[in-house]
Amino acid sequence: MAYDVVLKKVMKQFGAGNQVFTAVDHIDLQIEQGEFFALLGPSGCGKTTTLRMIAGFEQPTSGEILIRDTAVQGVPPFHRPVNTVFQDYALFPHMTILQNVMFGLQMEGLSKSDCRNRALKALDLVQLPKVENRRPNQLSGGQQQRVALARALVKRPAVLLLDEPLGALDLKLRKQMQFELKSMQQQVGITFIYVTHDQEEAMTMADRIAVMDGGQVLQVGSPREIYEQPATRFVADFIGETNFLHGTLTMSDNGVGSVTLSNGDTIYAMLPDKPLVSDKVVLPIRSERIGIVPAGVTAINSEKAQDTQLVGIVVDSNFIGTDTRYVVNLATDEQVVVRIQNSEYIKRYDLAVGDAVSIFWNSNNTYLLDD
Ligand code: ADP
Ligand code: MG
Repeated sequence: MAYDVVLKKVMKQFGAGNQVFTAVDHIDLQIEQGEFFALLGPSGCGKTTTLRMIAGFEQPTSGEILIRDTAVQGVPPFHRPVNTVFQDYALFPHMTILQNVMFGLQMEGLSKSDCRNRALKALDLVQLPKVENRRPNQLSGGQQQRVALARALVKRPAVLLLDEPLGALDLKLRKQMQFELKSMQQQVGITFIYVTHDQEEAMTMADRIAVMDGGQVLQVGSPREIYEQPATRFVADFIGETNFLHGTLTMSDNGVGSVTLSNGDTIYAMLPDKPLVSDKVVLPIRSERIGIVPAGVTAINSEKAQDTQLVGIVVDSNFIGTDTRYVVNLATDEQVVVRIQNSEYIKRYDLAVGDAVSIFWNSNNTYLLDD
């Protein structure tokens, strides 16, 4: 496996004396060549600091960074085979679009006509033809971000670093740009390391995601792995809408655990790969993985095996367009959110607040975590 970027126990502290703050806490990452890799986590978790260390704007306090198998300790940003795209574009306002894109190439000493041809090609790639003579303030935010992208791509870096590049755009444009960025990345085959706090954005674009919190990497995996088998409670909570049921693990057999809930009910779930530290467990379940029927009705949705079933009362119900969202109060007094798609192909019931219901899900899809 060829790695473009490797981080080994990288740590970054700011400040001195008793004001020392650890922004990045011994992280290990291996980013493959040609991969679209996302760093995902809440604000302040250390994403930008990690990216700035790869770019060379910050030096790690300890640990090692390799780019294309070469340690880059002490190598200044402009001598690294990487380029960065920032959220605020950072275009030169007094230059034309073409001059902005050509600028980096001219610094490399290429001939003017080579620079011009490559810059025009890059503007084509980001789908911005015929704007080369305008100035940045004559373009929309989305167009300016494309120019910033063209300017970074034109230098043909091995790795492109993107720090919340779509953060300033409105939702509709952001969705469109997500799609375009992904196809552009596939077209040019350059490794992208993409920082975002938006889980949906990371899921949409990335081949693999590293979920960060408090300066640490909690899990690395494909969007599917992270969604379906979150390694920690934080990951389960941060991505998607997740319910947590608390209980005590009373038996384990062949990878399946029996969990007793606070009211004495028993449910079953898969044991995680990493051994649990105690019998106090929590079961994360995605709201869309749960089925719901009126009490006494047999669940007829054959898609969802009903090997775990609990009774409850509907305490809230909201129609939200694509789905209907129910909040169900269980006998344990825990509340569970259930989302049912408003599709004519799915059997649905008219359920109102106060109705007694059964909720059910397939235990094979659920993995226990330490509480
Ligand atoms: P993110 O990009 O995930 O929002 P950052 O990497 O920007 O997070 O910041 C991580 C933490 O490090 C934050 O608490 C931030 O305040 C702190 N930090 C970042 N840069 C500096 C700096 N130059 N000096 C002191 N603290 C910093
Ligand atoms: Mg940031």
